[in-house]
Amino acid sequence: MTTTTAVTVRVPAKVNLQLAVGPAREDGYHDLVNVFHAVALFDEVTVTGARTRATGGPAELTAEDASGGALAAHVARVPLDSTNLAWRAAELLAHEAGARQPVRLHVRKAIPVAGGMAGGSADAAAALVACDAFWGTGLDRGRLLELAARLGSDVAFPLVGGTAVGTGRGEVLAPARCATRLHWAFALSEGGLSTPGVFGAYDRLRPDAPRPRADPALMAALEAGDAAGVGAALSNDLQPAAVSLRPVLAESLEAGRAAGALGAFVSGSGPTCAFLAESAEHAERVAAAVRTASDCTHAVTAYGDVPGAVIR
Ligand code: ATP
Repeated sequence: MTTTTAVTVRVPAKVNLQLAVGPAREDGYHDLVNVFHAVALFDEVTVTGARTRATGGPAELTAEDASGGALAAHVARVPLDSTNLAWRAAELLAHEAGARQPVRLHVRKAIPVAGGMAGGSADAAAALVACDAFWGTGLDRGRLLELAARLGSDVAFPLVGGTAVGTGRGEVLAPARCATRLHWAFALSEGGLSTPGVFGAYDRLRPDAPRPRADPALMAALEAGDAAGVGAALSNDLQPAAVSLRPVLAESLEAGRAAGALGAFVSGSGPTCAFLAESAEHAERVAAAVRTASDCTHAVTAYGDVPGAVIR
């Protein structure tokens, strides 16, 4: 019998091509229409066995900067305890599947922390896949998606990847076709924006928000592989709220537009700004331009879409 000693899962960041937000519901959540798009900026989660008397779930979690130092301040904000979403994912799977062997989790971060690119949710999705393989629990895709949705509204998408329309709180996913490779630049900031804080500002700015729906112009441009059409249709209802909390973001957005970006917007709840470019070379030029904006501490390029969490 062979024993698995380590499983590593690579998982992508997401950018929202559209984020349409309805009014606050009675349960405090908002109905969303979220056009998710997975980009080639990857975290890695590795699970290994731990020697401890405890049974099941994680005994320890460590985190490392995969960007050669640029994300050091981000990684310092990653919780190393049971509040980490990857930890919670492993705990949930251990509980549901009755896994008894304790594990150690190691997270290599290339996705900005609290940057509106769902890094924590991506790590949770990766931990589900890695622990499922490590423990040999062999849950089917539907069961993993159900556990993902219980962990958070953004956890199901990084399991699937590609491009998809999320409805409900974002966890009900319908795959969408993106018929061309899209090239992106991202401007990262130090110090995140809290997602609940941004939703709170949104409720104050838009108490009369209409029912959200997917933008037909965006979906048609994706289906046709029309990058300029995608750029023209990109939208984020949370952007005014994020910019109201961090006005300096307007400068980053302007720097990207001046460099010819096909679209410039705040990613999710921010503060990362995303720029759609014409080509990989153009994305590098846009990244160089946005690096000069005062709020930008680091700029990276990535293409999309890419598949979801995979075992390496
Ligand atoms: P979203 O776009 O889903 O709102 P985000 O990209 O803005 O998320 P995350 O990187 O997921 O934000 O981090 C949000 C907070 O979650 C962090 O401030 C951190 O305290 C906590 N957190 C929990 N687990 C993780 C993790 N594995 N990696 C990063 N942050 C985590």
